[in-house]
Amino acid sequence: MTLKFFNTLTKKKEIFKPIEKGKVKMYNCGPTVYNYPHIGNYRTYIFADLIKRVLKFKGFEVLQVMNITDVDDKTIRDSQKQNKPLKEFTEFYTKGFMQDLDKLNIDKAEIFPKATETIKEMVEIIKILLNKSYAYKTDDGIYFSVKKFKSYGKLSGVDLKNLKAGASNRVGADEYDKENVSDFALWKFYTKEDGDVFWNTELGKGRPGWHIECSAMAMKMLGKTLDIHTGAIDNLFPHHENEIAQSEAVNDVKFVNYWLHAEYLLVDGKKMSKSLGNFYRLKEIEDKGYTALELRYLFLTTHYKQKLNFTLKNLNSAKNTLERLKNIVLELKDDDKENKKYLKEFEKAIDDDLNIPNALQVLWKLVRDKNAEGKYKTIKEMDKVFGLDLFKQEKIKIPNEIQKLVEEREKARENKDWKKSDELRDKINKLGYSLEDRKEGAIIKKDVT
Ligand SMILES: [Zn+2]
Repeated sequence: MTLKFFNTLTKKKEIFKPIEKGKVKMYNCGPTVYNYPHIGNYRTYIFADLIKRVLKFKGFEVLQVMNITDVDDKTIRDSQKQNKPLKEFTEFYTKGFMQDLDKLNIDKAEIFPKATETIKEMVEIIKILLNKSYAYKTDDGIYFSVKKFKSYGKLSGVDLKNLKAGASNRVGADEYDKENVSDFALWKFYTKEDGDVFWNTELGKGRPGWHIECSAMAMKMLGKTLDIHTGAIDNLFPHHENEIAQSEAVNDVKFVNYWLHAEYLLVDGKKMSKSLGNFYRLKEIEDKGYTALELRYLFLTTHYKQKLNFTLKNLNSAKNTLERLKNIVLELKDDDKENKKYLKEFEKAIDDDLNIPNALQVLWKLVRDKNAEGKYKTIKEMDKVFGLDLFKQEKIKIPNEIQKLVEEREKARENKDWKKSDELRDKINKLGYSLEDRKEGAIIKKDVT
């Protein structure tokens, strides 16, 4: 069976063929360590993790590189706000990020390069870009001339006609939008605002722009052409477009064969933002009584190319579903068989541009199939991709009988049948479990006796 990915570059589903047979070189845009990531960021990292797990499931050897952006406009700005040296500030958030990856059961990348440890390589690239006249120097920095790179816009589809003429036709900031297609900064000359963050290099005293960092780290660790490059959809422009321009201008070869982008996470139907008060970090999810793996399960239920609407109600039902699944798994006996039919169906789903929601449905179909053999080994195999740790059972699990009663009661409550709902609660209590009703649904607890 053949693995296919939707390639943002060609806007088509394509059969995946790595450069070197059996081996995959993958780069994922990693975190900018100026704060705790929000759960939308983690959707993107789980997406990268699923690609890696699918590739490994298919027998590929994967070399995965995820960068740590530990110097840029935001890290400098916020480390100064906290009066901390940049290194100390970014190391704190890097550590937190790594702990979250463990909790979310994200298979760690083989290499996590840091921007501050790749300055030498960035300087070399910029020197070549200057020599080849793709870059030019101004009084505040060195800029990439997007008009010089003939295929600029091939990933995002931006039109260079929007480019405003004149001397202001360049942008020093790391982040900007499509309306402001401009020459962008490769190297920013030192200003007082940078404090003690600078490097004395052949290019002059200063620091790199954000976009060149990823090009340099990707090339250093993976070579001139990568198989796969991923990121969130909001990295597509300008970040990834600029990465292509810089890298291909330097090397004269294609930078990336397959570009994959994950869609946004919405919260209660809206884009997550601090001002709307719908901004969640992993810790806040945990404080509400949910685990990172329950969040992971929720993420698996929506295809990566679709917007995922996060609500606490959805998270609660993911929690209950995962709980039920773990209970079922707990009762499975290993008959030392694999169910080829279901594994084939599962593989068909993951082959189809990482259709994890369909793969999950295959798992549930297998679970419900009374005549299926080899459930234990087959589900174990599938969980290599899902990464839900279904076979790790540490805490007391809620039996199916209780789960069913809880679901029945939820339905009664939805129908405002309070009498039935109370009767069902009594029944649940008598069986040694209690319920805590929340806006988003009920939490089930085992009574301690
Ligand atoms: Zn990047």
